[in-house]
Amino acid sequence: MPLTPEQLVRPEILALKAYHVSDAEGMVKLDAMENPYRLPAELREGLAAALAAAEINRYPEPTGRRLRELLARTMDVPAGMDLLLGNGSDDLIQMVTFTLARPGATVMYVEPTFVMYRMNAIFSGMKAVGVPSREDFSLDREAFITAVREHKPALVFIAYPNNPTGVLFDAEDVAAIIRATDGVVVLDEAYHVFAQKSFMSRLPEFPNLVVMRTVSKLGLAGIRLGYLAARPEWVAEFNKVRQAYNVSVLTQTAAMYVLGKLDVLEAQAEIIRGERRTVREGLAALPGVTVYPSAANFFLTRVPDANRAFEGLKSRGVLVRNFHGAHPLMQNCLRITVGTPEENRKLLSVLRDVL
Ligand code: PMP
Repeated sequence: MPLTPEQLVRPEILALKAYHVSDAEGMVKLDAMENPYRLPAELREGLAAALAAAEINRYPEPTGRRLRELLARTMDVPAGMDLLLGNGSDDLIQMVTFTLARPGATVMYVEPTFVMYRMNAIFSGMKAVGVPSREDFSLDREAFITAVREHKPALVFIAYPNNPTGVLFDAEDVAAIIRATDGVVVLDEAYHVFAQKSFMSRLPEFPNLVVMRTVSKLGLAGIRLGYLAARPEWVAEFNKVRQAYNVSVLTQTAAMYVLGKLDVLEAQAEIIRGERRTVREGLAALPGVTVYPSAANFFLTRVPDANRAFEGLKSRGVLVRNFHGAHPLMQNCLRITVGTPEENRKLLSVLRDVL
């Protein structure tokens, strides 16, 4: 008799829920921290020509050599560090976790944070230990370092700035945690263009530091490309776990083309940083709404009734992310991505009505 999934699947996988993505068709999409702007028309034409010329009959260059060289130059990767590319940074999180998953090893992170750190720890059979942040979502440095001494993690993930809170932890607190940890510390700088703060230039200071980034929030979420920078001895090990052709010819071609015109994406990021101020002021002016400080392209907000506000927004065509029930610190919290000025105006006026 064939066994059922309940009998065959690992219990910790049975207990998980798949990563949730809402259907966003026809909605003002403020749920996933995307750049709301498309490429300008002339760049779209150039991109189409570059993609048409790509040799898709061939496998990609496995490590994306030319793209790594371009990223090393444009992203100020310090000399002596190597780069590893991923099918989004999700892929890199998985590779790093897999590589360090010795039996009994522990992954640590601040709570609340990006759920993929915990999920990948579980996929890899590792122990997952979250240390709650303070109530204002700042980093509790003492509590974290005490937990590091107790659990001796092989791997620590810190999102800088953090998701879903938007909070940028104090750089000295982060440095103290890197120093206090014997394991690898991955600093996830997915939102670095909005924070304009980075540990990239400090890589040489810390032998156990890995800086991870994505082009998703910069305006290229659809192509799926992440990169990490670290010492060659770490990259060589992570690289063994990489799927042979994890970054497609189309992704490599598109990234080479668009990153060659990085100023266009950076100008869009600057507009979003300007809009961030407008959205923060607009949200803070709404009765009963708390807005947490954000260095990213989104805001965590606390409203009187998040489920009602979420449904009210959705029924009027605005999709945000509801975190009520996801973590005790996030009671009645919604996460709202900064959109175009028009989208932001709609968000603020609908939210005012709904509240
Ligand atoms: N890290 C953080 C902190 C994120 O918020 C996200 C996306 N929500 C990712 C990594 C994954 O990004 P991607 O796989 O698109 O590169």
